[in-house]
Amino acid sequence: MPKTNLKGKTIEELQDFLTSLGEPPYRAKQIFRWIYKGVTDFDKMTDIPKSLAARLKEISYIDKIKVYKKVESRKDDTIKYLFLLQDNEIIESVKMEHRYGISVCVSSQVGCPMGCAFCASTIGGFRRNLTSGEMVDQVLAIQEDIGKRVSHVVVMGSGEPLLNYEELIKFLKILNSPLAFNISYRRITVSTCGIVPEIKRLADEKLPITLSVSLHAPDDNLRDRLVPVNRRYPILELLDACKYYIIKTKRRITFEYTLISGVNDSKECAVKLARLLKGMLCHVNLIPLNPIDERDFSRSKPENIRLFEEIIKNYGISVTVRQEMGADIEAACGQLRRSFLDGVKK
Ligand code: SF4
Repeated sequence: MPKTNLKGKTIEELQDFLTSLGEPPYRAKQIFRWIYKGVTDFDKMTDIPKSLAARLKEISYIDKIKVYKKVESRKDDTIKYLFLLQDNEIIESVKMEHRYGISVCVSSQVGCPMGCAFCASTIGGFRRNLTSGEMVDQVLAIQEDIGKRVSHVVVMGSGEPLLNYEELIKFLKILNSPLAFNISYRRITVSTCGIVPEIKRLADEKLPITLSVSLHAPDDNLRDRLVPVNRRYPILELLDACKYYIIKTKRRITFEYTLISGVNDSKECAVKLARLLKGMLCHVNLIPLNPIDERDFSRSKPENIRLFEEIIKNYGISVTVRQEMGADIEAACGQLRRSFLDGVKK
């Protein structure tokens, strides 16, 4: 029988596992705490009997991802990590420091199947979903590396998290558990490119997390080109699902809009976007593009970004321009992993 990995199991799953071994439920709480303190050796769990530690070693293990490479920004405190998984796949995560705390951007898949036109994560295609344990481990490994607690988590790295739904929900529950990371749901953001049925499913979970939707275009023609999933779930369907999410969770939605010079940054685009979102409980986050070598897109001029922001604001919609972090260390999502994979091929 293959051994069971205990990292990434929710407290309820761990209770079931220990009950099946004839152990009382409180043992699950003890082991759960140790796992999310970063302990991987059962012998170091000082409050469980030696006989149980020996039994657990026979049938289970606690996985741990390895830091493969770390790149630190010289401009701010951003650190990009490449992590090596058990099957030799590589994923990317980012640590950022803010006034309000430390946030970590985690990946939810190895590569990404979604094909967004300006994104480095999707270029090598999709490899596989991450397990909840591998998502948790990105946060744990970064905490260990920097010696500080992470206060905010954004699931905005490589991958479409809503295509890895069950593992994502387990991950969110572990982050939120007072016995593990104790991170409030309000400090967790999940980003999607717009998988309509899964947005509704997430709304029904009623977790007060922030949903961030990658919009990037104000009409279907343009969005079909930039975010191909739009051909399946066009903008009006997507906005209906967002409204459902707002009603169910009472949370404001963030719309991400990457500004690409001459593509989606005109005055007309700004007006269309503002008309589309007016009256919704939402925030617009304008992102100056981080260009990647493989695509012919360039960043909007600062004056166009300012004008775009002004127009949205004039419609009474909350809007900010994303502050750049780690711009000197392959800032685009998936870019560091991409250059690593290119290096391996060469
Ligand atoms: S932007 Fe997000 S969903 Fe789109 S290809 Fe990149 S990682 Fe995937």
